[in-house]
Amino acid sequence: MPGDGEVKILVADDDPVSLRMIERMLRHIGYEVITADNGRKAADILSTAGGPRLSLIDWMMPQLDGPDLCREVRDRNDDLYTYILLLTAKQSREDVVIGLKAGADDYLTKPFHPAELEARLNTGRRILQLEDKLVEAREEMRLKATHDGLTSLWNRAAILTLLRSELSRSIRDRSAVSLLLCDIDHFKRINDTHGHLVGDEVLQVVSDRLLDAVRMYDAVGRYGGEEFLIVLTGCVDDDLRNRAEQVRKAISSFPIPTTSGPIFASMSVGAITIENWETALPIELFLKQADNALYQAKAAGRDKVVYANYQLAV
Ligand code: GH3
Ligand code: MG
Ligand code: MG
Repeated sequence: MPGDGEVKILVADDDPVSLRMIERMLRHIGYEVITADNGRKAADILSTAGGPRLSLIDWMMPQLDGPDLCREVRDRNDDLYTYILLLTAKQSREDVVIGLKAGADDYLTKPFHPAELEARLNTGRRILQLEDKLVEAREEMRLKATHDGLTSLWNRAAILTLLRSELSRSIRDRSAVSLLLCDIDHFKRINDTHGHLVGDEVLQVVSDRLLDAVRMYDAVGRYGGEEFLIVLTGCVDDDLRNRAEQVRKAISSFPIPTTSGPIFASMSVGAITIENWETALPIELFLKQADNALYQAKAAGRDKVVYANYQLAV
């Protein structure tokens, strides 16, 4: 990333004397210089992942000249921007326009003063830094849109989207999707006794334990206040029973450390496996069945797993 430290720059020039001179100049002011002696090599280097995003490209080169190289780079429409400073012996206004239209960001006429080159490259670095900040902000927004702020789990909308796509996939390859709908027992009491903030701490620890209790490719979402939805793929029968027990025990086996001291908590679980189905049924149906099973687990004394069989109810 073009921030502090050594910034990578590609220098492309077919004149070896000029190439060495620029290379030395840029090394001197702290750049990590990668060189190419023709346009084709330069284009390939610029398309390498993790390659330089800052480039100084000679206009006149065999195979692919500066403007052609600009066009090729811009046509690629990469995720990250490549800043191109064209180096030209040409002076005419028309030529400059051709270079900029081809996608160059700036140009420098040979012979140039080292201080001017440095200053123009600094402009390029500023632009790339701005882009980095934008990408970072976009990623943060994406994360916020799909994740719950308190627990960092998938949020309700995201886990439901994930469930929908898993169900579509399971129809295609006739595999199974299992759900665990989990609800913390008497959570209101925890809030009432220790306060809402401690309740939040409990939710965070419970979330971490749920993540630890499932496999890497299972998804855990915060379905509601103190309710969690776990989507398991290819986990049925005894595997599901073992997994569900593991999930349940992950909460009730050890007290939850909080700023208000250790708190004992437990969780009830409604489980359902969806498999061998011929038609696409709405997910609400399965969630309802899981919810009914959860309700039975509560009624049976809590800290329990109850399995639903949706086929009986359809
Ligand atoms: P049950 O065993 O029947 O599930 O009882 P419960 O007390 O857990 O269930 P109930 O639905 O009555 O209460 C859930 C409580 O969870 C009520 C609500 O204030 C609390 N809650 C929901 N979201 C949050 C949150 O983000 N933080 C905290 N601290 N509490 C929350
Ligand atoms: Mg509850
Ligand atoms: Mg609840």
